[in-house]
Amino acid sequence: MGMAYIEPAPIKDKENPLESMMSRFDAAARLLGITEEMYHILKVPARQVIVGLPITMDSGEIKVFEGYRVIHSNILGPAKGGIRFDPGVHLDEVRALAAWMTWKCAVVDIPYGGAKGGIACNPREMSVGEMERLMRQYTVAMLDVFGPDKDIPAPDMGTGPREMAWLMDEYSKAKGMTVNSVVTGKPLVLGGSLGRTEATGRGVTVAALSAMDKLRMNPYRTSAAIQGFGNVGMHAADLLQERGVTVQAISDISGGYYNDRGIDITAAMTYRSANNGSLEGFNGAERISNEELLSLPVDVLVPAAKEDVINQDNAASIQARMIVEGANGPTSASADEIINGKGILVVPDILANAGGVTVSYFEWVQNRIGYKWNLDRINRRADRIMKDAFDRVFETSKKYQVSMRLAAYIVAIDKVASTYKYRGGY
Ligand code: GLU
Repeated sequence: MGMAYIEPAPIKDKENPLESMMSRFDAAARLLGITEEMYHILKVPARQVIVGLPITMDSGEIKVFEGYRVIHSNILGPAKGGIRFDPGVHLDEVRALAAWMTWKCAVVDIPYGGAKGGIACNPREMSVGEMERLMRQYTVAMLDVFGPDKDIPAPDMGTGPREMAWLMDEYSKAKGMTVNSVVTGKPLVLGGSLGRTEATGRGVTVAALSAMDKLRMNPYRTSAAIQGFGNVGMHAADLLQERGVTVQAISDISGGYYNDRGIDITAAMTYRSANNGSLEGFNGAERISNEELLSLPVDVLVPAAKEDVINQDNAASIQARMIVEGANGPTSASADEIINGKGILVVPDILANAGGVTVSYFEWVQNRIGYKWNLDRINRRADRIMKDAFDRVFETSKKYQVSMRLAAYIVAIDKVASTYKYRGGY
């Protein structure tokens, strides 16, 4: 067993997500004792594409956006992962998110590799027409990257079913036939799957309930705070409340909202959709800051927005008994030790938020067999996959005496590495 690893990059004050991903990967690879060759194979992305996208804005001005697609691995099957539209998108972030997709698909045991795409842009400041031109241009630039057997995109921050419909249409036009299995997270009428919208939040809920069970916590006597009220946080809040959990706080970019008797999540969701996707002005709660939300004395904290919100500056102030990561990379590597030292149970991102890609997989399967499953079948199968993955990771954490996060990486790396060993040829 070669163990001569490259020293992990030192952890900086403000980490970059790639470093956060790599330091956990390094630790798990060491525990597993994979060879140095395998370490390098798993570390370097299989393909990285950067494209320039000149777009005519509504003003008539031409603006050039940079678009990325990183395929981290396609050894388990076609690469899979969302497309992010956000001003903060940069290549290292996309690389980290692509690798997280590889580990995520391996943890839940679905036959996909990992990829991610992104464009640095601000969807909040763009018109529908500008968004459409950008998405279509990006698709054209990625025609030889995407494909139902090669690389299958999906929504991520700043994109949703509407963008996936444009992608499917542009790809299909280029191929001269309708190819709905090239993308998941589509609108239902285009071959989208029932349950896909809520899938990530539902998986977060299954993960949270499984963890509560291990800690012998009764959901009816459990409180939660949800940071981020987008597609993930909103549905997690809704389903946790449905299972009896008191959701005391929620937040979005307008700030935090707190009510110790519990926030009416259905009312918050209705308010948000009537208010252009924002909670600004929502009453039925007291205003708090996003920072205050993170340090509330709740039982369960669900970060469901973006990377690095829990970091070495605020980790010590967290009072929750359990963190269930709805977002990708919400805890920076520098915070891991502080959080673990406080005895907080962390259900890591690559496990907790895998419900989305699981139902994406079901969407792709349905497209390929040309048949539609009912919601009951989808939810039952997705819940089972999440529960099995949770148990696998929990057992591994006991076996290796490590955190759930390291255990999830161990499960994932072991699966990808042994697939390489059987396939060989490198
Ligand atoms: N963007 C989502 C994620 O980070 C979903 C990816 C997919 O469905 O392919 O897991």
